[in-house]
Amino acid sequence: LQLQPARIIAQHKNYYQAATAHGEIISHLAGKYLYANDAMGGFPAVGDYVLVKLTEQKDRAVIHELMPRKTMFYRRNNFDKSELQVLAANFDTVFICMALNRDFNLHRLERYVIMARESGADIAIVLTKADLCDDPDSKAVICETVCPGIPIYTVSAQEKKGLEQLLPYFGKGNTVIALGSSGVGKSSLVNALFGEEVMETSEVRESDDRGRHTTVHRQMIVLPGGGLYLDTPGLREIGIADAAESVSEQFADLEVLQTQCKFKDCRHERETGCAVLLALEEGRLTPDRLSKYRKLLKESAFDKVKSRYLY
Ligand code: GDP
Ligand code: ZN
Repeated sequence: LQLQPARIIAQHKNYYQAATAHGEIISHLAGKYLYANDAMGGFPAVGDYVLVKLTEQKDRAVIHELMPRKTMFYRRNNFDKSELQVLAANFDTVFICMALNRDFNLHRLERYVIMARESGADIAIVLTKADLCDDPDSKAVICETVCPGIPIYTVSAQEKKGLEQLLPYFGKGNTVIALGSSGVGKSSLVNALFGEEVMETSEVRESDDRGRHTTVHRQMIVLPGGGLYLDTPGLREIGIADAAESVSEQFADLEVLQTQCKFKDCRHERETGCAVLLALEEGRLTPDRLSKYRKLLKESAFDKVKSRYLY
């Protein structure tokens, strides 16, 4: 049972899915990753290349090594600032997607460009929903003056216009990741290019440790032609962070609760002495509110990463 190369195509709560020469395999982390640190590159993320060892059960593997990353997006864990959280790795091109309607915002565009540059990947600006704009070309020119040297494309998924210009980015083995607010038309773009089925087949059923079944996204999609599309929830939410007001203000009660947990670095998952879990149990906090808080935290953490590059 020797080490073999694999690529992480999805990250779930307790396991990873990895693509190997022998197909997709459910993979768990080797023991040393219980305490993954920055020097080790943190935890493996979607897009990472790793070395796995197959177990006796042929459909299971253990992740032993993480290969150095070519590009990545990351943030700092909100509960433990020293912890590196990689959101996606080893993409070749970042599509910065912005819709040519009210979503169009040059400041946000600049911030996306800064983030994308920092990631180390090539960049293309994709102005979507051209059908909703009277003069898409002049918008493209404005973008050009703000972000010189970056290729800019105007497309309409609805009218299937301008799409073929993007095809070269989806060549065999090339990995594309899309940045942009929720609703700018990222999935419509991929659907218009490759057909609805492509995204739909990315749905997989998984069961959590309590045996409940949920549908999750595959996060890395192999496209016809051999290109790869990275679709990570953390990144999809990035745009919303612009609108999200201070999370601490909306959830002041939860911020206080957290300070009452026994452990400073409590993740409120199954730790003993967790004040948040106790509040859940006693009905002082609803699961809905907690998950909304977690979601917003994720987004605002991302916002902090962005502002770090700005100021
Ligand atoms: P995502 O969240 O970035 O993946 O955005 P979606 O692809 O889900 O699109 C959000 C909404 O915008 C949907 O209602 C789409 O029908 C609509 N949409 C997407 N592309 C276009 C387009 O080119 N033109 C117009 N008018 N609407 C679009
Ligand atoms: Zn806690």
